[in-house]
Amino acid sequence: MEPSILFNGSHDHDDPDYLAWLDANPEGFVANVPHPHTPYDNFPVVMHRASCPDARNGGQDGKLTSNTQWKVCALSRDIAEQGARRYTQVPLRYCQSNKIGGCGRYWTPEGNRRQEKLA
Ligand SMILES: [Zn+2]
Repeated sequence: MEPSILFNGSHDHDDPDYLAWLDANPEGFVANVPHPHTPYDNFPVVMHRASCPDARNGGQDGKLTSNTQWKVCALSRDIAEQGARRYTQVPLRYCQSNKIGGCGRYWTPEGNRRQEKLA
């Protein structure tokens, strides 16, 4: 199993690299981790699917990585969640975006898979 990838604004792990990962891995998962040692460090980690439009929303300064938040990405949800826990102990929250492609149709606030609608 591949490890998770941390995008923290460093060289080759900056916003363009993160966006490229999303584009290359639409079935992947993203943990949005509040940057440690900032006023945001008690915010919950928000889990997204890579296809979620909210995974592309910048922080207060428009940055996706580094200043206020890190992104931990993996092809497996378990790996992404384990990766996030290496950086923070705050609880996980599951994105409930109801935008097109958003996470709300995919899982419940507790992270349980929603029933696939049969056509
Ligand atoms: Zn989402």
